Amino acid sequence: MSSLFYVSVVESADKGRQYYEEKGLVLWDVQTKDKIIALTFDDGPHPKHTMEILDLLKQYEAKATFFIVGDNAVKNPEVLVRQYKEGHELANHTYTHPYKLTTMQELMDELQKTNEAIFRITGFLPTLFRPVGGQYTDNMINAAVENGYKVVMWSWHQDTQDWKNPGVKKIVQKVLNGTKPGDVILFHDGGGNREQTVKALKEILPELQKQGYKFVTISELMGDKN
Ligand code: ZN
Repeated sequence: MSSLFYVSVVESADKGRQYYEEKGLVLWDVQTKDKIIALTFDDGPHPKHTMEILDLLKQYEAKATFFIVGDNAVKNPEVLVRQYKEGHELANHTYTHPYKLTTMQELMDELQKTNEAIFRITGFLPTLFRPVGGQYTDNMINAAVENGYKVVMWSWHQDTQDWKNPGVKKIVQKVLNGTKPGDVILFHDGGGNREQTVKALKEILPELQKQGYKFVTISELMGDKN
């Protein structure tokens, strides 16, 4: 998926994780002793799978962060309202999920359109942005930051690859084998059939809860209680 992505107007090389982490512009995960974890879901909302995920999150008193595709939000406003009402964090994942961009303005328009849609439906204005396919450039981060966004990635060891439908067991093992405090776990609630993700969560949530983990939003993970 990500290999198709490029930003042709951008030639500058990636400054790297350390630079962006130290500046506080991009988040991958956090160092903490507290047993807290951020579950994140991309590409929704989806009328069936997101609702099933919300049921599970409720059951385990888990809060999550949803990286919303604006076009899906407009098609499923009732799902978005439920996500917000149940205390989850809404974040921006572009409007049309484009793998190709020719200008940075295109991306900024995508972000603005999504934020406007989310605000119109819920009254909440997201401040977090996750790039499509996790592919970012220096120019992209600069533009996002200038427009008031914080860029959010995920823990390198917590990419479940659930969008490939690798099997429930693989998704479960990926998460449970490497869990540590401060992790940001990447799942998808949209963009295809997410039955495996739902089934995996039915195993992951009770197990991590048993281990004493609490599931928090990205803003909570960053210690930002807005
Ligand atoms: Zn995505």
